[in-house]
Amino acid sequence: MTIDEALTKIKQKDRCWVIWDSDTGEVLSVDRFERNNSLGSPNRCQIGRLLTSANISRTVLELQERDILRANLRGRILTEWYEAPFENVLLLLERGQYEEPMQKDFDSDYLVDHLWKVHRDDWQPVARVRLSTLIATDLLSPSASQHLGWCLHALDGREADLLALWRNPASTYPYNDTWHLMECLAHTGTKDAGLINDLVRMIGQDGLFEPRRIAVRTLAQIGHAAWPEAAAAIRSNIRDGEPWITAFRDRALERIGSPDEEWTRCSHCCFGYIHPQKGHGVAECPACFGIGVTRIDSRRHSSFANENIS
Ligand SMILES: [Zn+2]
Repeated sequence: MTIDEALTKIKQKDRCWVIWDSDTGEVLSVDRFERNNSLGSPNRCQIGRLLTSANISRTVLELQERDILRANLRGRILTEWYEAPFENVLLLLERGQYEEPMQKDFDSDYLVDHLWKVHRDDWQPVARVRLSTLIATDLLSPSASQHLGWCLHALDGREADLLALWRNPASTYPYNDTWHLMECLAHTGTKDAGLINDLVRMIGQDGLFEPRRIAVRTLAQIGHAAWPEAAAAIRSNIRDGEPWITAFRDRALERIGSPDEEWTRCSHCCFGYIHPQKGHGVAECPACFGIGVTRIDSRRHSSFANENIS
């Protein structure tokens, strides 16, 4: 329906549930909102909002339509970038031109993160030099610069520098930065006892599950050096829940409880990440639970694993 038709329907009610087509931004329906009614949730191709009629004007509906179209365009451009080869993404970062609706402050972060997660094998010496020249320039957001610096430390094996950042009492990082730093540390192959203790402590903390899950994943990436403290903490704090949680926990215990030599890089992913076949974004590899390694021959070593998991 047109915006004017939608506005007429909205004004006939005090509160209403409006559904937009998420591709075209067109209003599809306007329904009366009543407590206890079951309007259901919009499906993947729709966006729903509960509106108070008195607050809605033509401008509000026009802005909503514009936002939907803008988000669609951003999604299409990001998908194009995420499907591009490493060199093309590197050129995008080097050019630093983000035309509306793209924005340097978000998208340079996304691009650095994307290169790190699904193109890490392409960060060869020449590319690393090119990337290093972008740090602390106007071409990147401050957080993209910081993350890029940590990635380069990880690939150059600068474990001591990353550990210094981790231990710096003046640094309080948001979750996203903390998780990236943990991942960079794991990439160096660190076996640092202090870091392992910190991660073990994180597993036992109250609160959100996600930070604890990332701590388990990082300990699993660190491997057998985290034995036995990490295994004890995982058993005590990661309880049986949904099947994927149990499977993830058991895989982490198997990894930590067995020698690192029995594990090899997972052939399904790039250090634990995959680029889904459609759209933009990255996902953790379901084959290795994002740990990035798989057991060379699980049958051959099953007795060892069983001893240590039980
Ligand atoms: Zn994998």
